[in-house]
Amino acid sequence: MSMACPQCKKENPNNINYCWHCGRALSLYARNKNLEKSKKLEEANEKNLTLQKKLLEFQKNKNGITELQETIKSLSNELKTNKEHRDNINNEELTMPLIILSVILVVIIIFVIINFSMS
Ligand SMILES: [Zn+2]
Repeated sequence: MSMACPQCKKENPNNINYCWHCGRALSLYARNKNLEKSKKLEEANEKNLTLQKKLLEFQKNKNGITELQETIKSLSNELKTNKEHRDNINNEELTMPLIILSVILVVIIIFVIINFSMS
């Protein structure tokens, strides 16, 4: 006695688990095994998907951290530049009045000395 495969419609001996022609599971045992296999495959796929999602999230977080690091770096650079700029301004602002003050002081001292020596 033979039976036709439900998939490829070809004849197979009655006592085999899988179709000789297309490999489809024919017996209940084989079908259960296949079901188990596909269940495991589905589970593995699901795990894979979860892992992929986590990886994507991790990548996103990593990008966020990198962005933050770059922002901090550029901010600290800006701060440094601003500080240098401020120092330069301070030096310029301080130097000129100091020179003028010194000149005025020297002139006053000379004036006082001349005045003293005259009297
Ligand atoms: Zn078949």
